[in-house]
Amino acid sequence: MTARRIDGKAAAAAVRATVARIAADFRQRTGRAPGLATVLVGEDPASAVYVRSKVKATAEAGMEGFSHSLPDTTSEAELLELVERLNADDRVDGILVQLPLPRHIDSDRVIAAIDPAKDVDGFHPINAGRLATGLDGLVPCTPFGCLHLLKAELGDLSGKQAVVIGRSNIVGKPMAMLLLGESATVTIAHSRTEDLAEVVRHADIVVAAVGRPEMVKGDWLKPGAVVIDVGINRVPTADGKSRLVGDVAYDEAAEVAAAITPVPGGVGPMTIAMLLRNTVVAAHRRAGMADPEGL
Ligand code: NAD
Repeated sequence: MTARRIDGKAAAAAVRATVARIAADFRQRTGRAPGLATVLVGEDPASAVYVRSKVKATAEAGMEGFSHSLPDTTSEAELLELVERLNADDRVDGILVQLPLPRHIDSDRVIAAIDPAKDVDGFHPINAGRLATGLDGLVPCTPFGCLHLLKAELGDLSGKQAVVIGRSNIVGKPMAMLLLGESATVTIAHSRTEDLAEVVRHADIVVAAVGRPEMVKGDWLKPGAVVIDVGINRVPTADGKSRLVGDVAYDEAAEVAAAITPVPGGVGPMTIAMLLRNTVVAAHRRAGMADPEGL
């Protein structure tokens, strides 16, 4: 079997086009575009790349961007003050504080300071609690993007066996909650899981969010499984350069799976699309309007 390659770029482009149409409509009705504030603290090169692409995508969707780039000497109090200002700014519908933050700043405290109505990353405990209890809130972008790809691939997920590898608050846990919300039978595996290969072998759906290059092997998979690879790992190549690989050994997995996301070009583009989606939804809710249709 050679798996279908799930085209995250194309799926993301479709979401972004819908968001752009909805943003234009919002602007016409309210006299302003939905606004996203991004906050980058320090010089981490990967974080800078992520924030740049989020800012670019915001503009392309016809939304207003407010970029804040702070030195890594910024104190926690200064960052909290900025968050308060953004909370109070009516032009700002979404606030994204890029993680990781420098070590001297408590990221939990910063996340908790964001107005949950503007928490477009979905990391605030209020939004995590809403997701866990099945209430409407804002859902973390990466797992939300994974769910979008899975539903496009499989339709109804009800009754499917799903294994999520990784239990972070950013990916693994919210992913498991989303799958549970779709009535899948969900197993969360993690660094202490015994015989992971055996756990994965029962899964119709595998979501790998670990951060270990090509850890999930082809012979771990049930034939016909759908595999979503969240991992982004930079590995050195023979010519002294480097390349990106996921948490799944793509070539061997593609021999067994029915469908699989590539890295890059799978989950990554969906994360940004869902951030734009969350921002336009937050704008509607803050304006007292019904959630836009089609997202
Ligand atoms: P994390 O380090 O917070 O969590 C990793 C999880 O993997 C932990 O819960 C840990 O228990 C589990 N784990 C570690 N070793 C394991 C092992 N040997 N077997 C089973 N489980 C193991 O990471 P994260 O923030 O959840 O990110 C995971 C990966 O996803 C990283 O590669 C990250 O770069 C990537 N990521 C991608 C996107 C995207 O947009 N595509 C977004 C966020 C994260």
